[in-house]
Amino acid sequence: STELPSARPEQWRPSEFEERTPSVARMYDFLLGGKDNLGVDRERAREAVSADPLFPRVVRENRAFLGRVARFLAEECGIDQFLDIGTGLPTQDNVHQIVQRINPDASVVYVDNDPVVLAHGRALLADNNRTTVIQADLRDPGAILAHPDVRRLLDLDRPVALLLLAILHFVPDEAEPHALLDELRAALPSGSYLAITHGSPDLRPDVVHRLEEIYSRTASPALARSREDVARFFGDFEMVDPGLVWVPWWRPEQEPAEDSDLVWFLGGVARKP
Ligand code: SAH
Repeated sequence: STELPSARPEQWRPSEFEERTPSVARMYDFLLGGKDNLGVDRERAREAVSADPLFPRVVRENRAFLGRVARFLAEECGIDQFLDIGTGLPTQDNVHQIVQRINPDASVVYVDNDPVVLAHGRALLADNNRTTVIQADLRDPGAILAHPDVRRLLDLDRPVALLLLAILHFVPDEAEPHALLDELRAALPSGSYLAITHGSPDLRPDVVHRLEEIYSRTASPALARSREDVARFFGDFEMVDPGLVWVPWWRPEQEPAEDSDLVWFLGGVARKP
């Protein structure tokens, strides 16, 4: 799009803090097999993998959930506007690529608070005028909803899909995530969808608490939440089948692999009545 400066990823230089402190976006990239990460990120991510050798698998299952949800929303629900908060670094199949294959007119606004996501996202999107990436924080929903790019690309009088995948566990209770969600849900018109994935201690408490400790030594400490707490994020939206489940079991395209019952991320999609 012409409004975007021609930022290229090679122009991104980490600040001193960013160089010293593992970033969860860059760790996630490493865990998915990407190369947009630094030594500090790899070191902390490897620690996480020793705590849970299945962690890369959990991350891949989360990403696969994202793919199934994006296709479901674009294809079966006719959604053509997406607000993806906590985008992460560009990888194989990003939301705009998935949904624009189904509907070339679909619009996507990516939101992340990590500047590296902004730099790489802009490079990827340089010639896509129905998609943009903005740097903003989930903890300030007002700023996201009022952002000129959100207003330009998304018509909030028509159904929107709000994606909050693997981000809410980075919002501590002090930031009042339930109040943030109330504000975001209220801003969406009827017929909109909300998709969430979230780490949960319910399945393997020891492993997950160890990972929380490891993530407390990153720029974004993480807090896993119970199924009950995660379910509350959907408010009065109506859960789409099969409800809030361990991610491999959300509308799988093939029989989930045998150790899928060790994947400790919950995921679900709900519709605003
Ligand atoms: N949603 C993607 C990526 C998840 S990684 C997926 O599920 O595959 C989590 C992302 O959330 C990171 O890119 C991180 O920078 C971002 N993030 C964490 N806390 C955030 C906040 N408060 N506001 C905006 N983005 C945040």
